[in-house]
Amino acid sequence: MRRLVLATHNPHKVREIHAILGNLPYEILPATDFPTVPEPEETGATLEENAIIKAKALHDGTGLWAMADDSGLEIDYLDGAPGVVSARFAGPGCTFADNNTKVLMLLNGVPSSQRTARFRCVAALAVDDGAVEVFHGVTEGIITTVAGGEAGFGYDPIFYSPELGRTFAEASADAKNRVSHRGRAFRQVAERLRELAPER
Ligand code: IMP
Repeated sequence: MRRLVLATHNPHKVREIHAILGNLPYEILPATDFPTVPEPEETGATLEENAIIKAKALHDGTGLWAMADDSGLEIDYLDGAPGVVSARFAGPGCTFADNNTKVLMLLNGVPSSQRTARFRCVAALAVDDGAVEVFHGVTEGIITTVAGGEAGFGYDPIFYSPELGRTFAEASADAKNRVSHRGRAFRQVAERLRELAPER
C-alpha cells in the first residue's frame, strides 16, 4: 500500500479525516512518525497558502505523498474574523474556551440575523515535486448566544448548523462529518486518491 502522511497534529482533526479516508487503499501515517521533519511556520495570508506550505514541507521532508488541512471560522459581523487566525483569536496560548468567550463577547446583543458565519477548510495534497492540489469545503452556520454541547473541538459549541438543527458540539461525529467543511474538503481528497490509487 502506498504510504500517505498527514500534516495535522490536532487529534480531533485527525479522527475526522481518518473517518473519511480510512477505507482507501493507502496507509495513512501521522506527521508525528517523522519527528525530525520540522513543522513549518504558517506564514501564509490565506488558508490556502498555509495548507500548501504544510503539505509541501511534509512532502519535501519525508519524500512521501503528504496531506494538510488549514481551516477557520469566518463571522460576517466581524468582517470575516477570526479567519486565518482562528486558532489563536484570543491571543497566544489561548484555549478553545477563550476563543469562544471572545466571540460571544464581541457578538453580545447582536441579533441572530446578523450572526451568520461559516467554517472553511482547505485541504492540500502534495503528490509529486512541485505539484500540490487543493480542495475546498464550506459549511454555513449561525453563532449561538451561549455555548452548547460537549463533542468536537474549537468553535463547535457556538456554531449552530441549520443543516443539522444543532451545534456541531451537539452533533455526532458522523453527522458533523456529513456536513462539515472538513468532511466536504476531504471527501474530494478521497475521490482524487481513489483516482490515483495504484492498481491492486
Ligand atoms: P488550523 O489548525 O491552523 O487549521 O486552525 C484551525 C482553527 O480553526 C482551530 O484551532 C479551531 O479553532 C478552528 N476550527 C477549524 N475547524 C474547526 C471545526 O471543525 N470545529 C471547530 N473549530 C474549528
